[in-house]
Amino acid sequence: MSCDGKIGVVVLGSTGSIGRQALDVIERHRDRFRLVGIAAYNETALLCEQARRCQPLAVNVHEDKAYKALQQQLNGGIRLSQGMQGLCELAAHPQADVVLVAVSGAIGIEPTLTAIAAGKRVALANKETLVAAGDLVMRRVEDEGILLLPVDSEHSAIFQCLAREREHLHKIWLTASGGPFRSYSPMQLENVTVAMTLKHPTWMMGPKITVDSATLMNKGLEVIEAHHLFAADYDHIEVVVHRESIVHSLVEFVDGSFLAHLGPHDMRIPIQYALTYPQRQESPVQRLDLCSLGELHFEKPDRLRFPALDLAYQAGKTGGTMPAVMNAANEVAVSAFLDEGLSFNSIVTAVAEVMERHLPLPADDLDTILDADHWARREAQNIIQQLSKRV
Ligand code: MG
Repeated sequence: MSCDGKIGVVVLGSTGSIGRQALDVIERHRDRFRLVGIAAYNETALLCEQARRCQPLAVNVHEDKAYKALQQQLNGGIRLSQGMQGLCELAAHPQADVVLVAVSGAIGIEPTLTAIAAGKRVALANKETLVAAGDLVMRRVEDEGILLLPVDSEHSAIFQCLAREREHLHKIWLTASGGPFRSYSPMQLENVTVAMTLKHPTWMMGPKITVDSATLMNKGLEVIEAHHLFAADYDHIEVVVHRESIVHSLVEFVDGSFLAHLGPHDMRIPIQYALTYPQRQESPVQRLDLCSLGELHFEKPDRLRFPALDLAYQAGKTGGTMPAVMNAANEVAVSAFLDEGLSFNSIVTAVAEVMERHLPLPADDLDTILDADHWARREAQNIIQQLSKRV
């Protein structure tokens, strides 16, 4: 904690959906938090506005061009940096107590490891980091004795339900909204467009995670994330479709009791909880009205229509570099879909083909993981080119 008694927070990915909501939480509780640094990929206009409004000590931007724009627009007092090195400096900033990692994709691995090494509390909203480098990250968390708190709504829910009862856990039940195409036939899924995909039924999120929610890859990534966060075997992690997204996840204990976590769809709750844990404080969210909810529904996910889920279980059980490869291939395939260079169904086809070509290695060090990630990205590009020619 800094000398003024406030919690120093660094927000990596401040212009994304989680980042913007995190700044809202911080600004509402200025007596409690101090914004130390913010970082974005290339959205300079919003980044500059955030910097002027919140006056952090340091600002980082990833892209070279964006950095030049930032230098022109921001001057005096704020330390500016560019690229991965600057991002890692921010993650280890001496004034920071908590580092919120809310960047999108495997780019989050290095700053997360840096924050852990610097002894910071890590609030992790970037699931790709645990998917690709979960063994390594969790080992470092243990070695350094730091606290890594999940911000993903499901994992925050599980964390809260488990509390100090990890040893009595029987099963984790991850809830899934089912995405916008929950009830689509295989034929209808063939003709899904980008615009249709970006309309998520319950959560407002960035484009990458919204597409992942529609393919159910998001839930697959969350299964792997849960495996690492709670040291749970894959046979003890289940997915259940719950279209209302009111129950954010459940745990089942050895005696047959279930604990569920319920709440409004507002990411500011898990963000704030990760920053204030073990305390809670007031939040501006719209309260749940249980009586007006009426019914809650639970159903099995359709693993045939949404093969991404089984693919993720397969990658997780294989272990080593396989989850990193699956994740990287998925990032490339999703971005090709968003650029309208790949059909919706081909996202998962492309990921499966990259996984088939991969010979997994133990993922004990960062270089091996990043090599596998880069290999998978190249391989995915090749496969996507072939797939788009076939159409
Ligand atoms: Mg989630």
